[in-house]
Parts: sequence; C-alpha cells; structure tokens
Amino acid sequence: MSPTDRPDWYERGLPHIWLPYTQMLVTPPPLAAERTDGCTITLADGRILTDGIASWWTACHGYNHPAIAHAVQAQLARMPHVMFGGMVHEPALRLAASLADLLPGDLERVFFTDSGSVAVEVAIKIATQYWLNRGVQGRTRLLAFRGGYHGDTLATMAICDPEEGMHALFTGVLPQHIIADLPRDDGSTRALDALLHAQGQDIAAIVVEPLVQGAGGMLFHDPATLRRLRELADRHGVLLILDEIFTGFGRTGTMFACEQAGIVPDIVTLSKALTGGTMALSATVATRRVFEAFLSDDPMHALMHGPTFMANPLACAAANASIALFGQEDRLAQVAAIEAQMRAELETCRGLPGVRDVRVMGAIGVVELDHIADMPRLKAALVDGGVWVRPFRTIVYLTPAFTITAAQLSHLTRTIRTVLAAGPY
Ligand SMILES: *Cc1c(COP(=O)(O)O)cnc(C)c1O
Repeated sequence: MSPTDRPDWYERGLPHIWLPYTQMLVTPPPLAAERTDGCTITLADGRILTDGIASWWTACHGYNHPAIAHAVQAQLARMPHVMFGGMVHEPALRLAASLADLLPGDLERVFFTDSGSVAVEVAIKIATQYWLNRGVQGRTRLLAFRGGYHGDTLATMAICDPEEGMHALFTGVLPQHIIADLPRDDGSTRALDALLHAQGQDIAAIVVEPLVQGAGGMLFHDPATLRRLRELADRHGVLLILDEIFTGFGRTGTMFACEQAGIVPDIVTLSKALTGGTMALSATVATRRVFEAFLSDDPMHALMHGPTFMANPLACAAANASIALFGQEDRLAQVAAIEAQMRAELETCRGLPGVRDVRVMGAIGVVELDHIADMPRLKAALVDGGVWVRPFRTIVYLTPAFTITAAQLSHLTRTIRTVLAAGPY
C-alpha cells in the first residue's frame, strides 16, 4: 500500500498507536484491515488475504459467523452489560453450566475474566489461596515448564519460559518460580520427581499447557507426559493447573486437550476460541474440591477478585452461540479433515533448504526452520502470496478456522511451500 492509498484514519491514527511485540523504529508499517468474511481478511487497498491463523487462534468458526453475530445483536438490544457484583444474568449462567457439562470430571465452578493472562492470574491466586485457606503455609511457588507461555502480565511472565518471559531483563520485578523440563521420558520424569520431593512443600501448583506449548513455539508432547504430571502432582500433593487457553475448543482434535490423556486437572483456564474470536472473554474453572476450600465462616477465605467487565453479557452470548456451533456444524470432524490435509500437504515442505521439522496435531500445522534471519522479508513474501500467516521465532505455522475449505487450506500450504522454496530468509 503506497502512502497515497492509505485511508485517512490510518494516516492520522498510526502515529498514536503502540503496537504489540513490535520494535517500532524498524518494523514495516502494519496492514490496514477493513473487513473479514469467513476465512478471508480484506485490506483497505482491496487485497484479500486467506487467513491461516484465525487471529491468534480465536476465530474457530471463521469470521462473521451469522449465528454468533445474531446472538450478540440480540443481547446488545436487551442488555449490553451489567455489573456482576451482587447480580447474575442468563448468558453467564447458561455459559457456566455448559462449560461444566463440557469439561471432564467435576470441573464445575467457573470464574469469568476478560483475557487469558488474567484467567491464569486468577488460577494462580486460587491455587495459592487454596493452601492458605486450608491452613497450609509456605506453598507460594509455582512449577512451570521450559517452552511454556501463559500470558504477558507480570505474574504470568514469571511462569513463562525464562527467555520468552524475559526473566533476566525483569529480574527483581517478577516473582521467582520454578521452571523445569517436561517429564517426556524416564530421565526427565525422575528429575521432576526428585525436584518435587525436595521442594514440593513450597509449591502450590504445577502449571502446563496440555499437549501443545503454543506461543513458545508450537512444541508438542504426548498424552503420557500429561498423565505423568497428574501422577506427580498427586504423589507430591500439589495442584495441577492446565492452561487450555490455546488448546481448548477443538484445536488439538478433541474438545479439550486433557481428554486425550484421560486426566482431570484441579483448575483449567480457557479463552482464545471461547467466543469464537468475537469478544474478549476468559474463564478459570475449578473442581469442587478446590472450590470447597473457599467456603468458610471467615470472610478472608473468599476469592477476592472481580474485574469490572467480568462476565460481560455480549461476550457470554457470543460464547454460548460458539459452543452451540460445535454441535450443529460438527467442528471436530472438520478438525480431523484439516489434520489429514495438513499432514499430506505440509509434509512436502520437508527437505526444503533450512526446514528442520514438519509437525501436525489437530488443526495445528508447523514448519520449523533452522533459523529465520530476515523475518520482514519472509512476512512480506507470504502477504504477496495472498495469505495471512505470521511466522515467529523459527516457525511458520497454520492454525486456521475449522470452517476453512480444502481449496483455501491448499492455497495456504502451497504458498508456504513456494515461499520457503524461494528462501532462505
Ligand atoms: C494466549 C495465551 C494466553 C494469554 O492470553 P491473553 O488473552 O493474550 O492474555 C495464556 N495462555 C496461553 C496458553 C495462551 O495461548
């Protein structure tokens, strides 16, 4: 887009915007998005991009799904928002009940917030206070994993991968937690067992993204690893928090990733695809045992948390419509088809110069490179090829809407292959 094509709002507003994850001195200017439709994004200059990543993995039904749009419009006409202190409403209670139905085991008590990071913060707060309420002092640390990502707020940065969470840069600001390797095999399982044996008394909970560490680089582990974590948590008497913010709602092939391991966490966090990518909403869901630790005569045993826009009715209405669509349009069958197609088509990238690995799980497809030296050039080549794909670190990945057509998905995989073949970057 040449400067003369740029809309006036772009020219006037861009000098006042602070962009996410962006070195604003050198990065090329952002694209101007004008509208979305299904699996495409139309730019202000008229170009139409096929979307391969569903806006940070949220828009699982594609953009502008009429069922969600109608639900939000109807709710908007009735009640856009009302405070959740001392008052409840139909969209939130319907949503809480369906989440309790969908989730395994007795994960049945739902606390609503408005972003993934805050949902994880609430999980941390619940896990820590769980022990205090039961009269156990000193369990203030968390055990998380290398490669993990749990959000950008200060408390969640502290449980991200040390590099991703910039632990060195923010020394003195971030709380000190324990970051270990996932128990993928006998050796790492013994090491984690020993660590918990030595320091378990200090630990409130283990926190992990089940099956896929998303923003840390789309790193996969198997269900057995999750089962080991459940066993270790039980053996050492610590809580297990699963952060399903990325994996929840079908992304790995089952509604929730923990189903593939047959385990039930003590606390689970949800967001990203919760509203089908329409509105900001997140949830922290606890088991009955965890919730019951907060029931007492002591007012200080209550969970002292309450975001202003908690359980926003528009967002809850969107989430209810989104969850209904999983039944009405058989999303999990679509995920299986996407998985098969990506396996076949991305596999052809293996052997291209600089390609280190190709991996697929559910509707997540990853081409990992040895390194990416010129990220702006790679991103520009993808946009020139008519696709919206955002490589990061050393990976080019696809997390499309589950409603993507086979032809659109082929356009994405073909463009990635063509662009990578013209590398290195
Ligand atoms: C995106 C993400 C978060 C943070 O969610 P925000 O809404 O960006 O705060 C936390 N955990 C996981 C696994 C995520 O993918």
